[in-house]
This record gives sequence, structure tokens and C-alpha cells, in this order.
Amino acid sequence: MDIKDHIRGIPDFPKPGILFYDISTLLARPDAWQVAMGRMSREVRKFQPDLLAGVESRGFLAAAPLALKLGCGFVMLRKKGKLPGKTIKHEYSLEYGTDTIEIQEDAVQPGQRVVVIDDLLATGGTMTAGVDLLRKVGANVVGAAAIIELTFLPGRKRLAEMDVPFTALVSYD
Ligand code: 5GP
Repeated sequence: MDIKDHIRGIPDFPKPGILFYDISTLLARPDAWQVAMGRMSREVRKFQPDLLAGVESRGFLAAAPLALKLGCGFVMLRKKGKLPGKTIKHEYSLEYGTDTIEIQEDAVQPGQRVVVIDDLLATGGTMTAGVDLLRKVGANVVGAAAIIELTFLPGRKRLAEMDVPFTALVSYD
């Protein structure tokens, strides 16, 4: 099965000139989604994770079933102000301005092997922020994975510069 047959490109979203890869059509097809998560779990297993960290919000959609399949924990990297209790924040730069992601202070035990999961890797800004945040709480970030990689953007290179190997199910160039 070609997973790309179930991902659609929507032009001019969220702004003119951007082709947005929409995974709603993949999620709506249980057979295709099952194949996608099966293939991705075999790649992510190679990192031997203790925990998968999903990036809000589409990262959660893949990280939660992958964690169940691999028998490891799932931890949420959320936007500012969503998590109860004590949290650790990380502010990072966007094209215009900044954004902040947060994790619960006790979500990771120091030294635990963590893999960061998102739906798509583009410039790498989101994933590298996730790596920085996880390192702040003592995680050993052993890998990163996404359903889709945009290979014309430097996401994989930025992760490699942080010594984080990356794997993707499908790529567009
Ligand atoms: P980056 O931070 O690597 O530039 O962008 C990746 C983040 O933006 C991910 O969290 C992803 O959900 C979102 N994103 C950017 N472009 C797309 C796209 O074309 N399709 C989807 N599904 N998400 C995108």
C-alpha cells in the first residue's frame, strides 16, 4: 500500500503559496492508518524508546497508538497553559515572533530514552524545540520520527546537528 495515496495536498493553506499536506484522509481510512502505524512502529522500535513524546496536536495522533504498539509510555508536549501542575517551558523562534511549548515537570525520569513524534517535519523548528525541552527535563532524546518529511527544508539536518537521528514514513521533495 502506498501511504501517499491517502495524504492530500491542499494548496494555499494556511497562507497563499503553501501546499499543506493533510493527513485527515489517512486518519479516516482505518486500513491505511493501521498500515502506516505498523510501518512507523517498526522504525521507531529501532531507537529502543522508553517513552514517546508527541507534539501538540497532530503529533499526538501518531504518538499515542505507536506508544501502545511498542509498549512504552506517551508524554505530551503541549502549547502554553494547557498542562496542569508544575511544568517546564521552552520558548523558541518562529518566522515572526516566538512560541512556547511545555511539559509536566515529572513527565520524564532523568536518562529515559525518548523519541519525539510529530505528523510532519518541515523546517524542524517544532521538533528541535521538542528536543530542547525534553533535554531540559533530563531526557535522553534518542530519535525523532514523523509521518511526512519535506526534504526540501532543513528539518533533518537541524536534528542531526543536535545528534538526533530522524525517520519518516513518506517524503516530498
Ligand atoms: P516545522 O516546525 O518543522 O517547520 O513545521 C512542522 C510543524 O508544522 C508540525 O507540527 C506540523 O504539524 C505543522 N505543519 C507544517 N506544515 C504542515 C503540512 O503541510 N501538513 C501538516 N499536516 N502539518 C504541517
